[in-house]
Amino acid sequence: MSLLHPARTEPAPAPAWTVGDLVVRRVDEVELPAQTGPWLLPGATPEVVAAAPWLQPDFADADRVLRLASHTFAVAAGGLRILVDTGIGNGKDRANPAWHRLDTDYLDRLERAGFPPGSVDLVVLTHLHTDHVGWNTRRDGDAWVPTFPRARYLTSRAEWDHWAGTELEEPRRQMFRDSVHPVAEHGLLDLLDVPADGLEIAPGVALVPMPGHTPGQVAVRLTSGGATALITGDCIHHPVQLAEPGIDSHVDIDPALAGATRRKLLAELADTDTLLLGSHFPPPTAGLVRRDGAAYRLLAVPGTTGRPADGGTAP
Ligand SMILES: [Zn+2]
Repeated sequence: MSLLHPARTEPAPAPAWTVGDLVVRRVDEVELPAQTGPWLLPGATPEVVAAAPWLQPDFADADRVLRLASHTFAVAAGGLRILVDTGIGNGKDRANPAWHRLDTDYLDRLERAGFPPGSVDLVVLTHLHTDHVGWNTRRDGDAWVPTFPRARYLTSRAEWDHWAGTELEEPRRQMFRDSVHPVAEHGLLDLLDVPADGLEIAPGVALVPMPGHTPGQVAVRLTSGGATALITGDCIHHPVQLAEPGIDSHVDIDPALAGATRRKLLAELADTDTLLLGSHFPPPTAGLVRRDGAAYRLLAVPGTTGRPADGGTAP
């Protein structure tokens, strides 16, 4: 897979998971290029991957290189259409060549999943990194305008305050200019105070703090009919971090706190029925956390790929 031209994924129905009365779909943007894993998670060496054979073939390739993906989770909840993170986006000038001026059919995929842009009610930004905010906006002539004009865009106030108080390098300033500020300027951005025990934003949908990767990062907890699921954001980038919870991400702002957050979460999820949905996990993307010796493994739970008659078209 070329760094300059990341592969488009083939058109396929968006896989879906049901969580009580909620339906979550994965809407694909791109597979991330093979260079991503060694850069992002340098501790995930081929030896580490080999020691956890369950990672292959889905989560690592035959050369023991990690697979990673960019996608959105589209949640139908109590009549609301909610997107969790918006990927890299099309046509954006980016320092990372794998993210520079993408041209994917993401919006078509979103529509096929039952989430045309004009229908979206809430857009949750787990954190304000380039690969989580890109489809916040689309190009309209010389301007970047909100892709989801009816939506409230939600992120934590702690996240906003961190970046507002930081001297940004030009590539990150560019990202804020083209993907975050237009949403705020259109009056669509809400900054939320997220307490430690979570903040419900819709029936059964709550934000929970996952600090470390960024200071104000949140995960999204889904609870309905006795079932629970958790959308990670970047508190866990890849299932290899279940096998080796000490593997930090190269881009964690506070690696020690990120590691503590990850270990606490894994201990809470271990051997429960909570479905873990990974924001960069490649297909099958979701699973249950199971204790495995001194660490954990992911027991994969693939989504179903029926047409979105069960909540996508008429949530
Ligand atoms: Zn990310």
